[in-house]
Amino acid sequence: MEKLARKRVQALTPYQSARRIGGSGDVWLNANESPFDNEYKLDCSRLNRYGECQPQELINAYADYSNVQPEQVLTTRGADEGIELLIRAFCEPGEEAILYCPPTYGMYEISAETIGVRQKQVPLTQDWQLDLDAIEDNLNQVKLVFVCNPNNPTGNLIRKEDIVALLEMTKDRAIVVVDEAYIDFCLEMSSADLIEQYPNLAILRTMSKAFALAGLRCGFVLADENIINVLLKVIAPYPVPLPVSDIAIAALSESGLAKMQSQVLELNANRAYLKAGLDLMSGLTVFDGWGNFLLVQFPDGDELFKATWDAGMILRNSPLENGVRISIGSRDECEKVLGFIRNYYS
Ligand code: PMP
Repeated sequence: MEKLARKRVQALTPYQSARRIGGSGDVWLNANESPFDNEYKLDCSRLNRYGECQPQELINAYADYSNVQPEQVLTTRGADEGIELLIRAFCEPGEEAILYCPPTYGMYEISAETIGVRQKQVPLTQDWQLDLDAIEDNLNQVKLVFVCNPNNPTGNLIRKEDIVALLEMTKDRAIVVVDEAYIDFCLEMSSADLIEQYPNLAILRTMSKAFALAGLRCGFVLADENIINVLLKVIAPYPVPLPVSDIAIAALSESGLAKMQSQVLELNANRAYLKAGLDLMSGLTVFDGWGNFLLVQFPDGDELFKATWDAGMILRNSPLENGVRISIGSRDECEKVLGFIRNYYS
């Protein structure tokens, strides 16, 4: 039966998600998940009925949180579904292309490949910013330009003036998709305020990170109403399970937001703690990170990754040579990892 699959799919290597790679142990710092396991009450009373395609209460709550209009919000099954919907809706398979800037999140490439859409890569500059000239030279046939901000796995922010320059450059030609999966850790750096001005901007958001709801599978696209209406044509009829919208609405309530914000403060403090501890060691480089993870370049990244793995501390190796990405966990988890790395190099 495998031979019946589309050729492209036969050749495809699926995304090596942290969960697929596996591992065993009690310190899980490989998937940029939150260490906080918050409690929610479930209402199972109307599950015989389909939910709304776009639950209005959820849309309104997220619009409030992100300071945009409800018409500028689409809810999806995680930001990953947002990536796929944008490619399916805007790129003609076999003809048109997406553009992205490695090193960055792997799903732009994989979603495009699955759908049969070409991919153009314009690497980030040495300081991991957009190479605007090279992007401009490569815009032919490109419908979507993906910019991950803060970028995964490097953790840095993309300069806002460069995002604006890219929006100007692509006006009437292509949509700039700013993936803000980690923006809640530095919300003031969001590009959401540009939506009013730029009809070619789409922003991806998720509840998987700062909201500590990776298992919920709830994300959002923020964009001009015209983009949202196109996406509504291709989204599944009932994409949002009722319990998902109930829990997401609770997480976006006043008390839910207060909890998220205090957890963000704690994780940002843990990130500073881990960075300060690693910075004291010689021979490694810790890059400034704005999300709930840090990218570290070790003298022997693969060896270090294996050693932590064997010790039951699961980190993520990165495409950067000798790079290891460490998610920010609880203070206890950060202490354990820091202690292990200190011993490893002493
Ligand atoms: N974008 C980036 C940059 C991510 O790191 C991730 C999750 N690893 C996603 C999107 C997908 O998030 P979600 O869980 O909402 O599908």
